[in-house]
Amino acid sequence: MSARIIDGKAAAADVRARVAEVAADFTRQTGRQPGLATVLVGEDPASAVYVRSKGKATGEAGMASFAHKLPDTTSEAKLLDLVDELNRDDTVDGILVQLPLPPQIDASRVIAAIDPAKDVDGFHPMNAGRLATGLDALVPCTPYGCLYLLKQELGSLSGKEAVVIGRSNIVGKPMAMLLIGESATVTVAHSRTRDLPEVVRRADIVVAAVGRPQMVKGDWIKPGAVVIDVGINRVPAEDGKSRLVGDVDFASASERAAAITPVPGGVGPMTIAMLLRNTIVAAHRRAGLPDPEGL
Ligand code: NAD
Repeated sequence: MSARIIDGKAAAADVRARVAEVAADFTRQTGRQPGLATVLVGEDPASAVYVRSKGKATGEAGMASFAHKLPDTTSEAKLLDLVDELNRDDTVDGILVQLPLPPQIDASRVIAAIDPAKDVDGFHPMNAGRLATGLDALVPCTPYGCLYLLKQELGSLSGKEAVVIGRSNIVGKPMAMLLIGESATVTVAHSRTRDLPEVVRRADIVVAAVGRPQMVKGDWIKPGAVVIDVGINRVPAEDGKSRLVGDVDFASASERAAAITPVPGGVGPMTIAMLLRNTIVAAHRRAGLPDPEGL
């Protein structure tokens, strides 16, 4: 069997087009654009690329982007002051503090200082708790993007066996919560899991979020499963340069899966689309408007 390739770029383009329509309506209704503030501390090149592309996508969706760049010597107190200022700024609907932060700053304290209503990354303990208890929450963008792709592929997830590999606060745990919310039967595997191949073999849905290049092998995949590969790993390429691969061995897994996300072009584009989605939803809730339809 050769798997269907799940086109994350196309799905992300659909979400972004809908966000742009909703943003235009919001601007007409309220007289202001929805706004996303990004905060980059330091010079990490990958973080700088992420923040730039988030800002660009925000503008393309008809939303205001406020980019804040601070030196890597910034103190925690200084960053907390900026977060406080953004919390109180009415033109800011979403606040994104790009991680990782330099070692002198405690990321969990910064995340906890963000107004949960503006926490478009969905990392605040209030939003994590709301997601876990089935209340309306701002949900972390990457797992929300994975859920979108899974529902597009499968429709209902009710009763499916799902295995999430990885238990991080930003991907694995919220992914598990979302799948439970869809009535899947969920197993969370991690670095201490015994016999990971056997655990994965029972899954109708595999979500791999580990950060180990091509760790999940094709013969772990149950024939007909849907495989979502969150991993982004840079490895040396034949030409001496480098290339990106996922956590799943794509060639062998696509021989058994019914559908699989590629890396790049799978989950990655969905993350930014869901950030825009969260920002427009936050803007509506803050303005006392009902949640936008179709997002
Ligand atoms: P993390 O390092 O915080 O968590 C990795 C998890 O994998 C841990 O819970 C750990 O227990 C588990 N793990 C480690 N080794 C394992 C093993 N041998 N067997 C089973 N589980 C093991 O990573 P993260 O932030 O969750 O990110 C995971 C991957 O997803 C990374 O490659 C990251 O680059 C990628 N990522 C992609 C996006 C995107 O937009 N596509 C967003 C976030 C993260």
